[in-house]
Amino acid sequence: MGIKETIKALEVIGINELYLSRKLKEEKVETKKEKQEDRKELLKKLYEKWKDCTRCDLHKSRTQVVPGDGNPYSPLVFVGEAPGEEEDRQGRPFVGRAGQLLNRLIKEVLGMEREEVYITNVCKCRPPGNRKPTPIEMRACSPYLKEEIKIIQPKVICCLGATAGEGVLGKSLKITKVRGQVFVYPFNPKIKVFLTYHPAYVLRNPKEEETLIKDFMKLKELISQ
Ligand code: SF4
Repeated sequence: MGIKETIKALEVIGINELYLSRKLKEEKVETKKEKQEDRKELLKKLYEKWKDCTRCDLHKSRTQVVPGDGNPYSPLVFVGEAPGEEEDRQGRPFVGRAGQLLNRLIKEVLGMEREEVYITNVCKCRPPGNRKPTPIEMRACSPYLKEEIKIIQPKVICCLGATAGEGVLGKSLKITKVRGQVFVYPFNPKIKVFLTYHPAYVLRNPKEEETLIKDFMKLKELISQ
């Protein structure tokens, strides 16, 4: 007998509804807990599959593959370009100066903690000298990002910089023209893609900080819609 039929049958013989509601609630909480473990587990398995990856030349100079980091149930995923020196050393994305600025914006503009969002990169290995990843490297690494997004199913993907936007949308673009705009994720039309500057660019061009803050305010609106 299904849950609906069971509820009806019990109601007929006068079984306490409150007890039933609590029981169902407990089952729901349990299922949610199991689901959360599932997503963490899936991301762990994904990392295990890629941690010794040699699909592109970036494996030759990296210290380690840097996987995404954060809440796998977040409605918001940030995507950057690739790990830098500090990220390559620590094995976590956005932990350098650009990461500090990102953390500040997450807290002060979005009103969230870094742990509440998920942060990753288009390429999971550091390009030598922090150069931009090549299209070949981005293509080689794209299944990893695609799989991460499929597991997390966020409401919004926020691309930080042109390279991130290109990696997510699969087309070349000029960030000065498309920043602040909303696109549709090519592999799932329910997911919105928002583009803004990379925090590292803003650190080099402090006059753009105001634009970045405005974009984050728009991002906040998008998440709450
Ligand atoms: S950047 Fe991606 S594809 Fe290239 S070696 Fe690292 S994990 Fe593999």
